[in-house]
Amino acid sequence: MDSDTTDLSDAEWRERLTPEQYRVLRRHGTERAGTSPLDGEKRPGRFLCAGCGAPLFDAATKFESGTGWPSFCAPLGGAVGTETDRSLFMTRTEVHCARCGGHLGHVFPDGPAPTGLRYCMNGVAMRFDASE
Ligand SMILES: [Zn+2]
Repeated sequence: MDSDTTDLSDAEWRERLTPEQYRVLRRHGTERAGTSPLDGEKRPGRFLCAGCGAPLFDAATKFESGTGWPSFCAPLGGAVGTETDRSLFMTRTEVHCARCGGHLGHVFPDGPAPTGLRYCMNGVAMRFDASE
C-alpha cells in the first residue's frame, strides 16, 4: 500500500502524478479511447488506483466492451464511490476511488450479466498488478 494520500494538496498531487494522470484523476479528464495498454490487459491480477494504490478491480470482472477503455462489470467491495455527473449535457454516474477521491471514469447500465453494469475506466487512472 502507498502512504496516506487523503490530505494531499493539489500541488502535491500535481507533483506525484504524470500530467495525464493528474488531468484524469484530479481534473475529471478522459483519456483518448484506445490509448491505454491496460485496455488489452488479459492476465489475472488486480487493477489499482494510480493515485493511491488502492485495489479497485479484479481482472476476473474485466470484459471486452469494444469502447477502447478498460471495462469491468463490478468493482472490488467498497473500492469505489459514485456521484451524479451532469456535465456535457448528459446525466452520467461518475466513478472515483473511495480512498483518494481520484476520478476513474463512469458507470453505465448496459454491461453484461451478472451485474448489468459497465464500469468504463480510464486506463491512465489505474495500474495493473499481475498475480502469479
Ligand atoms: Zn485512489
